[in-house]
Amino acid sequence: MVRTIELNKRQEQILQIVKEHGPITGEHIADRLNLTRATLRPDLAILTMAGYLDARPRVGYFYTGKSGANLLAEKLKKLQVKDFQSIPVVVNDNVSVYDAICTMFLEDVGTLFVVDNQSLLVGVLSRKDLLRASIGKQELTQIPVNIIMTRMPNITVCKKEDLIIDVARILIEKQIDALPVVKEVDGGFEVIGRITKTNITKILVRLVDDDIM
Ligand code: ADP
Repeated sequence: MVRTIELNKRQEQILQIVKEHGPITGEHIADRLNLTRATLRPDLAILTMAGYLDARPRVGYFYTGKSGANLLAEKLKKLQVKDFQSIPVVVNDNVSVYDAICTMFLEDVGTLFVVDNQSLLVGVLSRKDLLRASIGKQELTQIPVNIIMTRMPNITVCKKEDLIIDVARILIEKQIDALPVVKEVDGGFEVIGRITKTNITKILVRLVDDDIM
């Protein structure tokens, strides 16, 4: 298990000793601190569990060279979309811009995915897409979303096994707020989730709160 924790003073001292003198046995660390091996046991266990130290039988403790920051990065690099995705909100491609705006408010999301009658992904609607359509003179109940949406094949999608860090890079690069999580089916993509900047912000907080393995 890899954890990022705040170390107490004694744990910092142990780390320092192991950095300088490792590999070193528990006994020898205890000697240097004028403490008993038993007193140190919980601290050594914490440092080992947290990934700062590694222990080899008959060799002793050695420093893994990992700081809190790169332990966090290692954790982050393994996270997959499927564990953090939200439920997608979809509308049919023949609904009006007016209805799409209502759906966006009711469902409290910033991005809607548009599907055809076979439930296949055909478009994306962002807040600004709907705002843009609203500043024209047209009657919003009369404009179908499929004439204003971003459409296939220009939609960036992800799969549930994809890495969160890759999704984050794509969101930045494409300057968009969300990706549909899709499953490939005959003739197209079925929308099974959504991953947004909010999901990724929550991951950041959970990593620091140590709520993610
Ligand atoms: P907003 O336009 O409200 O700031 P976005 O930045 O997400 O929201 O969207 C910017 C533009 O990119 C919009 O025209 C939207 O339709 C389009 N877009 C949003 N998400 C995607 C996506 N996953 N793939 C392709 N285009 C997208």
